[in-house]
Amino acid sequence: MIEPPSPTLQLRIDEDALAENWCALNEVSGSARAGAAVKADCYGLGADRCVPVLRDAGCRDFFVAHWSEVAGVVAHVPAAQVAVLHGPISAAECEYAQATGAVPVINSVIQAELWAANGGGACHLMVDTGINRLGIRPEEADHPAIRMLDVSVLMSHLADADVDGAMNAQQLAAFENVRAHIPHRETSLSNSAGIGLGDDYRFDLTRPGLALYGGVPRRELASKIRQVAYPRAAILQTRWIEAGEAVGYNATFRATERMRIGVVSLGYADGILRAWGGAALAHEGRCLPILGKVSMDMIVLDLADAADIGEGDWVNLPYRLPDAAQQTGLSQYELLTLLGNRFART
Ligand SMILES: *Cc1c(COP(=O)(O)O)cnc(C)c1O
Repeated sequence: MIEPPSPTLQLRIDEDALAENWCALNEVSGSARAGAAVKADCYGLGADRCVPVLRDAGCRDFFVAHWSEVAGVVAHVPAAQVAVLHGPISAAECEYAQATGAVPVINSVIQAELWAANGGGACHLMVDTGINRLGIRPEEADHPAIRMLDVSVLMSHLADADVDGAMNAQQLAAFENVRAHIPHRETSLSNSAGIGLGDDYRFDLTRPGLALYGGVPRRELASKIRQVAYPRAAILQTRWIEAGEAVGYNATFRATERMRIGVVSLGYADGILRAWGGAALAHEGRCLPILGKVSMDMIVLDLADAADIGEGDWVNLPYRLPDAAQQTGLSQYELLTLLGNRFART
C-alpha cells in the first residue's frame, strides 16, 4: 500500500517541556517522588510518545484507569511500575493483573475479596476521604478482607485541590487518621493541584497528570509548568465573500463588507468543540477570528489580518491551557483529552 500523504492536522508535543514539567513537579514534591497519571493515552497526547519521555526523566510510578490501557504503557516500562486505578471487577481482570504484573488499586471490600480469591499479592489501596467516587470508606479499614491485603501504596484522592476550600484539610485529616489503621509501605494523596497545597499533602508519592501535560490547576505551579501540546491545522481554501453573505451552518455570521476568509481542516470531530465559537486562531502572532459555527471537519477564519496567507499554510490553535479554558469554558482536562486521532502527533 502507498503511504498516505502527511496529515493537515498536527499536534506537536514538546517532549523537553514534558520532561521538564515532570522534573519540576518531582522537585516541588519535596521528599516525595512524583509519579505520573498516564491514563486516557496520556490525557490524549499519546502514551507511546509521552511514557518514554517520562521514564527517561526519571519517573517510576505510572497510573492508568483501565486494564485496557496497561499494554500500551508496559510496552515502555516494567509492569510492576504500572498501577490500574479502577481495580479489578472480574476474575478475568485479576488474571490479567497476575499474568502481566500490573498492580491493581483495590477500591472496595468486594475488590479486596476478588483479588484474594484470584491469587492476591501486592496491591495498592484507595481510601475515599470525601470525593465519593472510588475507594473504601475509612470505617471499612478494619474489615478482614482489607486487613489481609498486602498494601504497597495507601492512596486517597483530593476533590477540591484546585480551590482553597475547607475540604482539602478535611480530606488530609481523614487520610492521616486512616493511615494509622492500615498496614502499608507507602502513602500517596496528591494529584497535580494537591502538589501545590504544600508539604503536608505530599507524603511518599505524588500523582500528577494535568500539570505534566501543561495544565496549571493552581497559580503556585504557574511559573514551573510549560506548554506541551501545540495543535495546528492547514488552510484548505481561501475565498472572498461579499457584504451580506453568510458563513457556516445556520448562517450565524454575516459579512458587513467584502472580506477574505479561510477554511481550516479541523472541527469538532477533532475535539475543537463549538465552545470555540467567538475565539480565534493565530498565525505568526496575528489573530484570525473564527467566523460562524464550528463544523465537524472545518472552521472558517477571518483572514483580514493575514492577507499573505493561503492554501497549505499552517495556523495555530492557541492552546495555553489556562487561557484556552477561559476562552472556551471547557476545563483544561477536557481541552487535552478531546484532541482527536486525526491529529498527527509530531
Ligand atoms: C487522574 C488522577 C490523578 C491525576 O490527576 P491530575 O489532576 O490530572 O493531576 C491522580 N490520582 C488519581 C486517583 C486520578 O484518578
